[in-house]
Amino acid sequence: MIDVLEIETCNELVARFETVIKSPRPSKSGQYFTGVDLGTACIVLAVLDEEGQPVAGAYRYADVVRDGMVVDYIGAVTIVRELKEEIESKLQTELRYAAAAIPPGTDALDSGAIKNVVQSAGFELTNLLDEPTAANQVLDIQNGAVVDIGGGTTGISIIKDGEVIKVADEATGGTHLTLVTAGAYKMSIPEAELFKRDVAHHQELLVTLKPVVEKIATIILEQVAGYEVDGLYLVGGTTCLTGIEGIIEKKTGIPTFKPINPMFVTPLGIALSC
Ligand code: ATP
Repeated sequence: MIDVLEIETCNELVARFETVIKSPRPSKSGQYFTGVDLGTACIVLAVLDEEGQPVAGAYRYADVVRDGMVVDYIGAVTIVRELKEEIESKLQTELRYAAAAIPPGTDALDSGAIKNVVQSAGFELTNLLDEPTAANQVLDIQNGAVVDIGGGTTGISIIKDGEVIKVADEATGGTHLTLVTAGAYKMSIPEAELFKRDVAHHQELLVTLKPVVEKIATIILEQVAGYEVDGLYLVGGTTCLTGIEGIIEKKTGIPTFKPINPMFVTPLGIALSC
């Protein structure tokens, strides 16, 4: 069963973060801990105080990371540095400490690049953890699966007694939804990408995108087979699609929870580990 209290706690944290992105509030002790999330669609900085409460944040849509790999190193450093400076000027302080995360299974490949981006942007790196572990700092799942539907891939991480015991990354994600949108609406891929992200189009798009979402649900079902999974917890950019959770829940038959803003769970979890 999905724990209602945990859902409320997660949503409260995300809601507070959304508020402080608009109106930062300085920490009483002057201590700040930053989570840097380098995503395919978006780079997010989440800043917490010593009690783990959000005090500031900033994000920017960018095309510097693909499928967890840094493809534009200078671009990534520039954006992280600019977001850091933006928050510093609002809080009138220097942000020193940051943690970051890497997609599961990519540590040998790219943890160095992500580490260097964060350090070159002027942070002292205190921790580098994997994304599902970061998300679970906020979700606090005991037995379930974190389903991270990103751009190129869907990551399924099975959690048993609070620990990640299996990760799988399957090559279907938001990029496929963009391609289907481009075909259905006769748009270029960049146009379709922007059209798809606009919440005003989600209701009509869901009908067109349902078969791909059902395909993702089938992939999830295959990966969780044989494990005790009480709930699916959706994170990642693609899960911003309004109504995606209903299709996944119906197809898998597993209770499915989507936070009020699934893009902010992992960055908050990263900051909590700082
Ligand atoms: P991966 O490593 O699998 O590429 P990621 O975790 O780095 O993923 P995210 O930034 O979480 O990627 O997600 C990227 C995807 O989210 C893109 O396909 C983008 O179109 C999609 N996305 C972002 N915002 C929205 C939105 N509002 N509505 C629908 N899709 C969205």
